[in-house]
Amino acid sequence: MEFLQKLHIDNDNNGVSTGLEWPAANGEKLFSYSPVDGKLIAAASGADKSNYDAVIAKAKEAFAKWRLWPAPKRGEIVRQIGEALRNKKEELGKLVSYEMGKSLQEGYGEVQEMIDICDFAVGLSRQLHGLTMHSERPAHRMYEQYHPLGVVGIISAFNFPVAVWSWNSMLAWICGNVTVWKPSEKTPLCGIACQKIVAEIFAKNNVPEGVSNLVIGGRDVGEWMSNDVNVPLVSATGSTRMGKAVGAAVGARLGKSILELGGNNAIIISKDADLDMSLVGAVFGAVGTAGQRCTSTRRLIIHKDVYNTFTDKLKNAYKQLRIGNPLDEHNHVGPLIDKDAVTMYLSAIDKCKAEGGNFIVEGGEMTGDGFESGCYVKPCIAEVKNEYSIVQHETFAPILYVMKYDGIDDAIAMQNGVPQGLSSAIMTLNLREAEAFLSHAGSDCGIANVNIGTSGAEIGGAFGGEKETGGGRESGSDAWKAYMRRQTNTINYSTQLPLAQGIKFEF
Ligand code: NAD
Repeated sequence: MEFLQKLHIDNDNNGVSTGLEWPAANGEKLFSYSPVDGKLIAAASGADKSNYDAVIAKAKEAFAKWRLWPAPKRGEIVRQIGEALRNKKEELGKLVSYEMGKSLQEGYGEVQEMIDICDFAVGLSRQLHGLTMHSERPAHRMYEQYHPLGVVGIISAFNFPVAVWSWNSMLAWICGNVTVWKPSEKTPLCGIACQKIVAEIFAKNNVPEGVSNLVIGGRDVGEWMSNDVNVPLVSATGSTRMGKAVGAAVGARLGKSILELGGNNAIIISKDADLDMSLVGAVFGAVGTAGQRCTSTRRLIIHKDVYNTFTDKLKNAYKQLRIGNPLDEHNHVGPLIDKDAVTMYLSAIDKCKAEGGNFIVEGGEMTGDGFESGCYVKPCIAEVKNEYSIVQHETFAPILYVMKYDGIDDAIAMQNGVPQGLSSAIMTLNLREAEAFLSHAGSDCGIANVNIGTSGAEIGGAFGGEKETGGGRESGSDAWKAYMRRQTNTINYSTQLPLAQGIKFEF
């Protein structure tokens, strides 16, 4: 395929890189099969422990040099990466779509998100500022500054195979850190393609080898990183199960972590909602990326007065969904990532039925022409109670749960009544309800929207969630602070040495 050639993806790739150098990888080989058509795209050799250790050693060496570059100069490199991504948007977007299975539009959108974070990081490279404070002692000056941390480990999930890496890397680099990335074992080629794009820019600008590093592999690579004192910050995106393991390992050595984990996102549809607008938000949120976004809409909490009207609209909209090859822009719903994901989807449907769920749009596997990969499923809708154990759980598939409410307080309690806390939304034209939803007693999520669905965040805001979503923040706002260490500096320019709190120490 032409886009693979343009991205320099071979049939058999080395999965360890410190820049232009791709040292031999001695670990397990990963085979990347496209969920779109089931074909083997290419293979990539993963790292063994000695490969991993060598990369970390190289990264530490590079950090000693890179941290001395002025931040705006580092920003200039990131600006060039943004340009390179603009030039490669089509090829990289196609690879994302083909390897992961999301629609081509969403593949391009993901690359656009990378370009946006580059732009954001360029500006930020001139704004890494701390505060100054008034000292309680005469002729003293006190301020704080931010220093880079060192090696930042990035563990990423399959569903955003390139954007999440870029959110982390661009910020980490302008802050003066070096990065070691372990992409999902389900999307190794996306990792290799990004590393190749960046390595060229770095080499052209004489950036030290080892600032951007790639280590392909499975969970074991993530575990080495989590336990490694040479990696002061691990930023991990994935399931809550994974985040609990990474958080515990990094915490045990008192390292820092940014955890971006599972969601269980709901939209409240008020009786005062614009129902047509709500329909677009709900359907895109539930079936976009085949329900495999961390921000996918999993639950709709609908006011009893509009429940029947709205569920009828939903049923009608679902009839019109076109399921099929995501590279064909006419299709709305592509495949799940692999056959295991299909098994999990089917098992969630069975569990939901066993708990009393009533499917108003039936699910099931798609078979026949065009569905040979065995990864395509039907988006479905079930009437449930929020308390069902399956509803409390994030199933990474297009299953939408609908439930009824009476008063706004009940709706907010239902929205909050799950272990996860990523994204939430209310559809209403009623100002009082909207403000109640956003108040201290409102949504407990990291993201709370009014008249927008749960999925699709802009990079300018800090992105992340509470409770079992992990509490981390990536991307915009002041998320950069998590990639740096804060230092308080006090300078005495007097002729005395007064102690703080007026303590006397005389001899
Ligand atoms: P996953 O947890 O199976 O894997 C994610 C990554 O973690 C992979 O690279 C994997 O190799 C690694 N990993 C797994 N176990 C590990 C361990 N014990 N130690 C270290 N690393 C380990 O997740 P997935 O199936 O790839 O992605 C889907 C999940 O990711 C969903 O739960 C989704 O909500 C979540 N997600 C969250 C966000 C967010 O920003 N909150 C964004 C994207 C995806």
